[in-house]
Amino acid sequence: MNIELKNVTKKYGNQFALKDVSLSLSSGKIYGLIGPNGSGKSTLLKIIGGLCFPDSGTVLVGNQRAERTLLKNIAYLTELDMFYEHFRVQDMIYFYDSQFADFQLEKAFTILKEMKIDQNKKLKQLSKGNRGKVKLVLALARDAPVVLLDEPLSGLDPVVRESIVRSLLSWLHFEEQTVVIATHEISEVEQILDEVIVVSTGQVIEKKNVEELREESKMSLLNWYKDVNQK
Ligand code: ADP
Ligand code: MG
Repeated sequence: MNIELKNVTKKYGNQFALKDVSLSLSSGKIYGLIGPNGSGKSTLLKIIGGLCFPDSGTVLVGNQRAERTLLKNIAYLTELDMFYEHFRVQDMIYFYDSQFADFQLEKAFTILKEMKIDQNKKLKQLSKGNRGKVKLVLALARDAPVVLLDEPLSGLDPVVRESIVRSLLSWLHFEEQTVVIATHEISEVEQILDEVIVVSTGQVIEKKNVEELREESKMSLLNWYKDVNQK
């Protein structure tokens, strides 16, 4: 599903979280959203998901204006931990299944197994890393046309991060999907990204095809990004 932001500005008090952002995202692509802490990555995802509204500008998801009801089309892994602590892992999965028409129950249990998580554990018993994995399962088990992942690898150890990134492509099978991954784990996700979007103090300062930037700059995405930051 295509996403179109035009001149989007969002302020908290008198501070800009996003400043005049215009951006087109297309179906069938995986975008990496990178930038320092506080640069506006999460705000951008929230605005696409209709969880917060811009002060000015327009946001279209598909051909509809972004609003909360659109979440039925958006699989969204948020930066927040919003679990019901007394639920077991499987209760959470059945709950999601009841909430989202596109939820694939069998796929959820398959991914859970691949991640080696015990479905009978209560959420409050899980380590931070395993909570992160459950959040991923809940987002990836949906066949939503838009997938927004806000720091999906945070709290996971390097070996797990690597294996999850390798599996992401098989879990994200929906061809018409638009996937946006906000992350600091640039090296880890480089191999699966089609395009990279760099934000800095609320503005999009670069948007590039990852393969092209590697050919042009003869650098890895991480080194290219460090270079962009020094300019
Ligand atoms: P990132 O995800 O890149 O770290 P955020 O989008 O979370 O950045 O934040 C962008 C800016 O907006 C930061 O300066 C942050 O402090 C501010 N901000 C984000 N959410 C809120 C909020 N709910 N209230 C006040 N300021 C906020
Ligand atoms: Mg963030």
